[in-house]
Amino acid sequence: MLSIFAPSMTLATALLLSFPVLAADENERPYGARAYEGRIIDAESHPRTQNREELASHYADAAKAGVERIIVMRTPNDYRKPKREKMLVRNARFANVTILCSADFVGYIHDGQIERARREVARIGQDLDAGRCAGVGEVGLRHYDKRWSRGGGQHEVFVPLDHPLVHQVLAAANLYAVPVVLHIEPVYKPRSIDNLAEVKRWYKEVCVKYPRLWLVAAHTGMMSPADLEELLLSCPNMLADFKVLHSEGATKGFADLHGINDLDFRFFKPWAAIFEKYPDRFIFGSDWKEGRKRGYRGRSYRKHIDRVRKMIGSLSPPVQEKLAYSNAKRIFRLP
Ligand SMILES: [Zn+2]
Repeated sequence: MLSIFAPSMTLATALLLSFPVLAADENERPYGARAYEGRIIDAESHPRTQNREELASHYADAAKAGVERIIVMRTPNDYRKPKREKMLVRNARFANVTILCSADFVGYIHDGQIERARREVARIGQDLDAGRCAGVGEVGLRHYDKRWSRGGGQHEVFVPLDHPLVHQVLAAANLYAVPVVLHIEPVYKPRSIDNLAEVKRWYKEVCVKYPRLWLVAAHTGMMSPADLEELLLSCPNMLADFKVLHSEGATKGFADLHGINDLDFRFFKPWAAIFEKYPDRFIFGSDWKEGRKRGYRGRSYRKHIDRVRKMIGSLSPPVQEKLAYSNAKRIFRLP
């Protein structure tokens, strides 16, 4: 009796465990008949390694995965890491990389180093003028500790949205008609912070005041599709990038920030729907941190891109290449 019972339990358990991985639940867009097979631009990447060979192998991998170009930019916290000071020049050496001007001025404002912030802002103007960068980012005006539930550890950056230096940078981007990638977390539930209304108002004002620049809200604005839609409707010069959350830590950190997927790796339906409703307004930006130890050990960018291709393949075919490739190519004026 026992010998018959035990194997059938094992089978049942195995089915239960594998079922959620195999099928999309009702909140998720099921995969399409085939994965997206076209070209990709990864419009937001933050390599952590500084090692030339490791970077070379990462970019070779990207090329093999069909990622034609990667846009490298600094994160809101990089200004505190002297080790990462040269990351933009090191990455710019690779033929399939485009870099954005550093937005470290935001961190210096946060730390009260206004003179240093001013020098950085002056340099952005010069670099844009010389064509040394294709835009500015990540401008991290609101960045909270998303590791709080696991003991904390992320440095926080909080800067007034209308700081004069922020406007100076927006004006420079407007002059050269380039994108500004903005990382602005509107809410932070652990401390009951809710600035969503203020943040939305700010986007709406800024897009009118600087009509020639492209506003790119990072990680799909970190607001609901409905709130983002309101902004897209009032700001013709606004787009949003989307990343696929790939680790448990990342999905937890994004719990209040409207991530587009869980670890089933399918789009949540409301996100798939808004991508298809506004196919010219979204770009793929992996937010990949090649070489980072936490959350990246044993993870392969190529495998990640395979997953992203399956997900993009779930969208209506005419939309797929726009999100994966041509929208980014157009706004960053890529070769
Ligand atoms: Zn970001």
